[in-house]
Amino acid sequence: MLNYFDYAATSPMSPRAISSFVKCAESYPFNPSSIHKGGLKAHKKLDETRERTASILRIKPEQVVFTSGATEAINIVFSSLLWHKTPGKVIISRIEHDAVRSFIPLLKEKGWKVAMLKAKRGFVDPEDVKRELTEDTRLVAVMNVNNVNGAIQDTHKIAAVIREFEKSIKHKIIFFSDSVQALAKTGLDLDGSGVDAASFSAHKISGPRGVGMLYIRNKNLIRPLSAAGGQESAIRGGTENLAGIVSFSEALEEAYENRDEKEKRIITLSERIKDELSALGLEINSEGLTSPYIINVSSPLPSEVFSRMLDDKGYAISSGSACSNNAKKGENIIEAMGYGNRRAESSVRISLSDYTEEGEVDGLINAIKEIIHGI
Ligand code: PLP
Repeated sequence: MLNYFDYAATSPMSPRAISSFVKCAESYPFNPSSIHKGGLKAHKKLDETRERTASILRIKPEQVVFTSGATEAINIVFSSLLWHKTPGKVIISRIEHDAVRSFIPLLKEKGWKVAMLKAKRGFVDPEDVKRELTEDTRLVAVMNVNNVNGAIQDTHKIAAVIREFEKSIKHKIIFFSDSVQALAKTGLDLDGSGVDAASFSAHKISGPRGVGMLYIRNKNLIRPLSAAGGQESAIRGGTENLAGIVSFSEALEEAYENRDEKEKRIITLSERIKDELSALGLEINSEGLTSPYIINVSSPLPSEVFSRMLDDKGYAISSGSACSNNAKKGENIIEAMGYGNRRAESSVRISLSDYTEEGEVDGLINAIKEIIHGI
């Protein structure tokens, strides 16, 4: 049996999410844009689901844009910069997910200035944001919860710095925060945090893959490269994945049920893993205010070797400091956080979910003990 500790990569769909997907696919098989009764019924379901999603996240329904995932939500925001007649400046943290960082070459090619913010141990200093803000700055991108070590940013402070600077210039600066690993896991406060746009993904919260969401505080802030069929307020064209969207909303509702209790349980499990692994001599790369769902550690073995040995024992974790195995060399996020090359090359990520059981955690700790004692 596979004991799963790679929930930050993807989370298997919950039975509730699966059954809501199937039910919706069967009951609403028509295009929400069609004008016949079947289409109107599907459109009504889409509207209701947008309202339900907005209400769970305590935002307005018009601020919800359903997408094919977080990557597409990020694409919509970044590619909209290309409408500007003259290139400006973007400020991006060094520890962003590849989905954000992959825009850097294109922006540079189009004449944009790109400032990279350091993030010691995974934390961006709002003072560094302040220093980089210039009159031609159009966007600041700092993720909410880092996917590699779980560092939680102070988005309120960063937003405050941007809003203060904005008073001295004539245009708005978009504060974008990739919030994939924060959804239903930390105290996500979209309305109060001052974030203008945020990306989310259903498959990180036991919803379906290929579904996500863009939160946009004010739609006038962005202009999509392609409006295509005009769906999703012409921000994300294309026939809506209604069953996927409904299932996402179901997973979201489920994840928010008894949120505090769930989080308390995960904090206990997470602290235990950190204590036990630390006692074994492993170095903990998730320090300070980090998500209890993500634990990054360095062992005496190279990350691939360590994770393969654990896999052989039936435990799935993530190797390396990049989120995807397709990530190119030289993009070591743990190194970018200042942990040094040795620690980066031997780092692995253990990620939990509300479904993680205590017995599985016992098993994982024992399996790691066996590996370390056997070296
Ligand atoms: N941003 C972060 C922080 C992630 O962890 C991921 C998932 O790998 C993504 C973006 C991309 O999400 P999606 O798979 O929905 O495109």
